[in-house]
Amino acid sequence: MSTDTEKKDMLRGGQFLVKETKSEDIFTPEDLNEEQKMMKDSVKEFVDREIWPKKEEFEKKNYALTEEVMNKAAELGFLGVGVPEEYDGLGMGFVSTMLVCDYISGATGSIATAFGAHTGIGTLPILLYGNEEQKKKYVPKLATGEWFGAYCLTEPGAGSDANSGKTKAVLSEDGRSYKISGQKMWISNAGFASVFIVFARIEDDKNITGFIVEYDKENPNGITFGEEEKKLGIHSSSTRQVFFDETEIPVENMLSERGNGFKIAMNALNVGRIKLAAATLDAQRRVTDVAVKYANDRVQFKTPIAKFGAIKSKLAEMAASAYVGEAANYRAAKNIEDRINIRLEEGKSHAEAELKSFEEYAIECSILKVACSEDVQNCTDEGIQIFGGMGFSADTPMESAWRDARIARIYEGTNEINRMLAVGMLVKKAMKGHVDLLGPATKVADELTGIPSMEKPDYSELFSEEKAMIGKLKKVFLMVAGSAVQKFGPDLEEHQQLLLAAADILIEIYMAESGILRTEKNAKRFGAESQKEQIAMAKLYLYHAVDLINTKAKEGIISFADGDEQRMMLMGLKRFTKYQNQPNIIELRNVIAEKLTSENKYCF
Ligand SMILES: Cc1cc2nc3c(=O)[nH]c(=O)nc-3n(C[C@H](O)[C@H](O)[C@H](O)COP(=O)(O)OP(=O)(O)OC[C@H]3O[C@@H](n4cnc5c(N)ncnc54)[C@H](O)[C@@H]3O)c2cc1C
Repeated sequence: MSTDTEKKDMLRGGQFLVKETKSEDIFTPEDLNEEQKMMKDSVKEFVDREIWPKKEEFEKKNYALTEEVMNKAAELGFLGVGVPEEYDGLGMGFVSTMLVCDYISGATGSIATAFGAHTGIGTLPILLYGNEEQKKKYVPKLATGEWFGAYCLTEPGAGSDANSGKTKAVLSEDGRSYKISGQKMWISNAGFASVFIVFARIEDDKNITGFIVEYDKENPNGITFGEEEKKLGIHSSSTRQVFFDETEIPVENMLSERGNGFKIAMNALNVGRIKLAAATLDAQRRVTDVAVKYANDRVQFKTPIAKFGAIKSKLAEMAASAYVGEAANYRAAKNIEDRINIRLEEGKSHAEAELKSFEEYAIECSILKVACSEDVQNCTDEGIQIFGGMGFSADTPMESAWRDARIARIYEGTNEINRMLAVGMLVKKAMKGHVDLLGPATKVADELTGIPSMEKPDYSELFSEEKAMIGKLKKVFLMVAGSAVQKFGPDLEEHQQLLLAAADILIEIYMAESGILRTEKNAKRFGAESQKEQIAMAKLYLYHAVDLINTKAKEGIISFADGDEQRMMLMGLKRFTKYQNQPNIIELRNVIAEKLTSENKYCF
């Protein structure tokens, strides 16, 4: 990423919707360099040695084990992968950060959560918003695991409405310290953290403020904890309430400026979201892997169940979602890494470069969080089904994987909030002129009133029809969202069901496009024959995306358009979601399942 042309052509956050992306311009998991591959292998080896064999122990609420594994991860440098070397981190790029997050998270949600909370929301607010002194004091300790971090935003009365917290910070008379009082809830890592990022309100400020609060068992300074929460899953992740009773901290421990806390909280969550998406990937791979092995072994009706179409279908769908999830995560990760590097080259500080780049790709971060948290849920659910009764037993890995997966739809902003954020941020970007939605939306509106071409395009080249379909699906989004914005203006946010439908369209487009582009790139360089199953997975995912987009767009159009306008839009929708050559989905699934079962593992 060095020439000016490359910089100019680079896809900016949110632009995937209005610009065509060439497959050679996206980064794929097959593009990892030697250093990244080594990092991935060492994390995998660590998980296979330290976490997977203790999977059952993690179900016994063994919080000490989580702390022990976190300490071992720290010794190998995994906690500071993305932290600059000057703060005792490894100073690696964002793709490496994502790799570690991905592969360390697959064996148990307890470690996924502890790791994510520490390296993400527990460390990043200081790294990104702290002043030099704060960074020097805290980041090296966090990056090396000498101290663990936690993030205290949620309160009993302030969940999704995070800026409404009641925790107070009162300045002392001499102006040298703040006293923090309040109750925080659902705090991951609370049981073993030494640094808490705490959000509190000063006087009657509109926005909350961020503070760094140290915890020392010997001198608790007004900090007490609730019992460990009794949770559905992630049993060895410490989750407690944290109470602050006139906890005194020096004024120097304010993060950034007074009233900047909500911004810090939200920006830390942008990064948290994409990392959470990555953290679902290895869980999907491992669950699929275990399911394939079980299906090959388990014999019913004198036949391994893997030979039954019903099971093949499940295995194929599980693998396709994981494969597409990888494509989308690493595509976005590299876009973010490149933008960070460009900003660094332009002379921006590390913190500013990262902040701006995560903010720029906040739409993609929300998309990935929603898509991957729902994919891992489906994957683990089908994993249980493949195991039959044994899937319901705590003696098999499916049961805990299913319970652990459930939290991903709730934290780091619920999926409802993230869906609405994704569309809301896109509309805002359009209004600010960062993404031109209006021009393309007007073109689509013109196309709707024009006479459609009767010519049959030549779709003989690999993915030519699929790429044309992605282009048409983008038109669906522009048609629905463009008309909705025109109709409702700023009141659009009151129409949540419409926003949710638009978000689903947006999500499916990004995910399906990523799957197609990854596969096209690999087919071009490794030969299409070597990518037979990957081609099938990309086509299978797109097929479902088209179906879902059809349903959601119809729902949206009917909700706000009627008469001729409705008829015209529905006709447009039919045209934009029509395959010239219907893919044979059953055959695609069979191709994928054959490969999985013959290799007896998740092999993509
Ligand atoms: C295991 C676990 C670990 C956690 N770790 C942390 C942590 O380390 N630090 C931290 O600060 N927090 C943490 N959380 C809190 C988590 O981020 C919140 O639970 C989450 O943000 C949702 O808030 P809530 O639970 O209050 O739900 P609510 O906000 O009450 O939401 C309930 C439902 O209403 C929906 N809803 C809410 N508002 C709207 C709206 N405007 N429009 C449409 N629908 C809406 C939600 O989507 C959801 O379906 C954790 C939670 C859990 C369960």
